[in-house]
Amino acid sequence: MSTSLLYHAFGIVGYHYRSQQFHGGTVTFRIEQPRERLCCPQCGCQDVWVRGHEERTFRTVPIGAKPTFVTLDVARVWCPVCDGVRQVKIGFADPKKRYTRSFERYALDLSRHMTIKDVAEHLQVSWDTIKDIQAKNLQRRFGKPKLHKLREIALDEIAVGKGHHYVTVVLNLRSGAVVFVGDGKGTEALENFWKRLRRARAKVVAVATDMSKAYIRAVRDNLPQAVHVFDHFHVVKLFNEKLTALRRQLYQQASTDAERKILKGTRWLLLKNPENLDEERNELERLEEALELNKSLSIAYYLKEDLRQIWSQPDKRTARRVLRDWLARARASKIRILVQFAATLEEHEEGVLNYYEYRISTGPLEGTNNKIQLMKRQAYGFRDQAFFKLKILGIHETKHALVG
Ligand SMILES: [Zn+2]
Repeated sequence: MSTSLLYHAFGIVGYHYRSQQFHGGTVTFRIEQPRERLCCPQCGCQDVWVRGHEERTFRTVPIGAKPTFVTLDVARVWCPVCDGVRQVKIGFADPKKRYTRSFERYALDLSRHMTIKDVAEHLQVSWDTIKDIQAKNLQRRFGKPKLHKLREIALDEIAVGKGHHYVTVVLNLRSGAVVFVGDGKGTEALENFWKRLRRARAKVVAVATDMSKAYIRAVRDNLPQAVHVFDHFHVVKLFNEKLTALRRQLYQQASTDAERKILKGTRWLLLKNPENLDEERNELERLEEALELNKSLSIAYYLKEDLRQIWSQPDKRTARRVLRDWLARARASKIRILVQFAATLEEHEEGVLNYYEYRISTGPLEGTNNKIQLMKRQAYGFRDQAFFKLKILGIHETKHALVG
């Protein structure tokens, strides 16, 4: 080892190499800060007096698989300007940390391919050490997202973990970045977001959410100028829930075993897009059999197919006509569940058709959701909520292994 290798291997500059020691499978390099490099940590004054030392040891990048340390006597100096005695700054490690910055970078590099547990085992440090290194990095890169350029956003709540744990996530639809993670769901989860948004003077022009009352109120109160688009995936999902409920009802009312047998197992067929029906499993035939048997089911099914048309029109005017025609047919069906759904949809007509002002949805949040579901399998989310939220903020360009 030499002084220049200290720099090239460990990123340590301004210190001299003194000696090395091999002990119990570890390597320790003793280094020293030359007298002329000492200065006051407070004001930078170099005209200081040494008033004792403290020996400190830092983990650094391993040599081979051997845990490697650097150790040095850190001087305490008296400064004539500040008239106080303080320990000098360490050039290669952050305050209070017992590892070098090169060790941090190495751990982060490994984290791109390995879980926290794997990295910790490989480097023979604790799980918490690796987690802290990741948390600091995430905090620096994503901890304070800039909001002033936000224009189009999507917000939604995402279930995390057992019990009814939720986080509410706000996505920048233009960049794909998560810009806020709030605890829980509903209006309260977003309070801090609105505050920050006002402070940033962001000019949000459009918001995509589901049709819930909480979001309608929140957007009206906090973004009165923005166009509120009701996400079409949520509308279709809501209708699918009604369709499933209707099928269950019909199954229970079925008068013969044969009828029940036909209805049984059609739930997924009803929800599938027709182009995805599996020919080899006779899915189309089975579906048609069930639809022929039951008029209500058949009406609901074709309404489901037509519902999607609302979002594939050339312009808002045509879409409005398609929507109103759909509403009329749903009401004419006299099927209670569908009539109720039509009332909901009619009430939200403007928000649904706002899709033609801004073609946005909460769809991109689905990708975020999937990644969160991967992360949540690991219990750490609940051991350390702050870390979990940081991970979500960095999720769009996360280079850490998702689990860990
Ligand atoms: Zn000073």
